[in-house]
Amino acid sequence: MRKQIVAANWKMNGSSELVRQLVPAVRDSVASLDNAVEVVIMPPSLFASEAKGELAGSPVMLGVQNVARWQSGAYTGELSAAMAADIGCHYALVGHSERRQLFGETDDIAAEKVLRVLESGLAVMLCVGETLEEREAGDAEAVVCRQVEIALSGLDSAAADRVVVAYEPVWAIGTGRTATAEDAQAMHRTLRDRLSDMGLPANEMSLLYGGSVKPDNAGALFAQPDIDGGLIGGASLKADDFIAICQAA
Ligand code: PGA
Repeated sequence: MRKQIVAANWKMNGSSELVRQLVPAVRDSVASLDNAVEVVIMPPSLFASEAKGELAGSPVMLGVQNVARWQSGAYTGELSAAMAADIGCHYALVGHSERRQLFGETDDIAAEKVLRVLESGLAVMLCVGETLEEREAGDAEAVVCRQVEIALSGLDSAAADRVVVAYEPVWAIGTGRTATAEDAQAMHRTLRDRLSDMGLPANEMSLLYGGSVKPDNAGALFAQPDIDGGLIGGASLKADDFIAICQAA
């Protein structure tokens, strides 16, 4: 059985007050879930230490939404994977489409970040996904396979148990428009086959779906054989919705 994972990506939302409300609510609800889902919360990095304090003794894991390509030095404003590890994070997101589109992150930059995350002892959650234009041009599979191939090109297969890939079609992020469970499953199958072609233990790697996952569509998505959970944006900011999604995994 592959690990089922539900991860909250708060993006640039929230406050320390939200951390004090939402993190304990998620922590306490997760303790009473009757499934074995691994739950990860990725608040803005400024609040990560505070969230860590709220998660003391809980199996809920902490992550950051981005890391630098470097581990330390004269990079004003940047935060490293080593620092995320230092405060007790388990995960770092790499290659989110908002990083790619708004901050010019390329596949090569994602590849460097993947290595920094893994050498810091963290697990990486690599995001891939096509734009609407790419899908309409029939290029979705080629784009997603290229993204994963480049970003994971330096990966030693021994570290694959610390690699999660999240398929997030760009047109589904924050739009309320979700991929159908069938389309998402088809892309996850393609991704898994490609990971296997790359010599990685693809059948043991968790592949998540992201893009307008809500309590009412999570069950159908997570029931697909190659979808091992979700990366949740908007719905992760409401405790009830996020818990319902965790329950669906
Ligand atoms: P969304 O965001 O759930 O709000 O669509 C998902 C993501 O960007 O990770």
